[in-house]
Amino acid sequence: MSFIELKNITKYFAGTSNPAVHSLNLGIDKGEIITLLGPSGCGKTTTLRMIAGFEHPTDGAIEIDGKQIFNKTHALPPEKRGIGMVFQDYALFPHMTILKNVMFGLNKWSVREKKQRAKEVLELVGLEDFANRYPTQLSGGQQQRVALARALAPKPHVVLMDEPFSNLDAGLREKMRFDVTNILRKANTTAIIVTHDQKDAFAVSDRVVVMKDGVIQQIAAPKEMYRCP
Ligand code: ADP
Ligand code: ADP
Repeated sequence: MSFIELKNITKYFAGTSNPAVHSLNLGIDKGEIITLLGPSGCGKTTTLRMIAGFEHPTDGAIEIDGKQIFNKTHALPPEKRGIGMVFQDYALFPHMTILKNVMFGLNKWSVREKKQRAKEVLELVGLEDFANRYPTQLSGGQQQRVALARALAPKPHVVLMDEPFSNLDAGLREKMRFDVTNILRKANTTAIIVTHDQKDAFAVSDRVVVMKDGVIQQIAAPKEMYRCP
């Protein structure tokens, strides 16, 4: 059994006749970086949102680390799933310092522990000298690393990233592919990354999951992929 199991997941949105995701089965190992790749509308974001708990599957089950987080009778709320989310626009709080932004997700920890952990992850993403600045004082790439630090701070089972590179210009994009992969590896974290860009997928992932019309078409390591999606 894999660390994360998506078992026969189907999702119909109310009022639609075609499923957004259909009979999706996927096992992800601990420490793996997976990308969901495919054109707009193929079901990537819906899949990510079901893992996060923002949407519920119509059918199927989801397990993380041997624990059922979703099935027909039971849905664990998002905050109890052990998931770190990095949103496309980073969603940093503009009125809080970088340190406070990273401490934010650690609400059950003591202030001392929060500070210590926040400093630890800021060091991991190479921004320990920026702790007292505000988000608008940082570049786009730096803001993304803060968002990643905030997601990693509570030591989640898995980090979910929705189109992390699509708002970045070409030069920065290449650098961030490298930075994000390095950070995820150093943190030893499992990650699922949504992208519509084949270059992103090939650059960052252990395995690429190619989706089309809500269905998985192919799962392979980048170097084994024989056909361009
Ligand atoms: P992707 O992330 O690959 O672009 P999505 O998962 O966003 O695809 O969407 C998959 C399909 O589900 C699309 O046809 C989209 O229009 C539909 N969809 C997504 N969210 C909703 C929603 N809230 N209500 C109805 N249909 C939706
Ligand atoms: P993305 O660019 O990440 O694929 P979309 O632009 O497809 O996202 O969707 C943005 C938001 O709109 C999401 O919350 C999604 O659930 C919702 N959405 C997408 N398609 C539809 C739809 N056909 N009807 C209602 N809501 C939708």
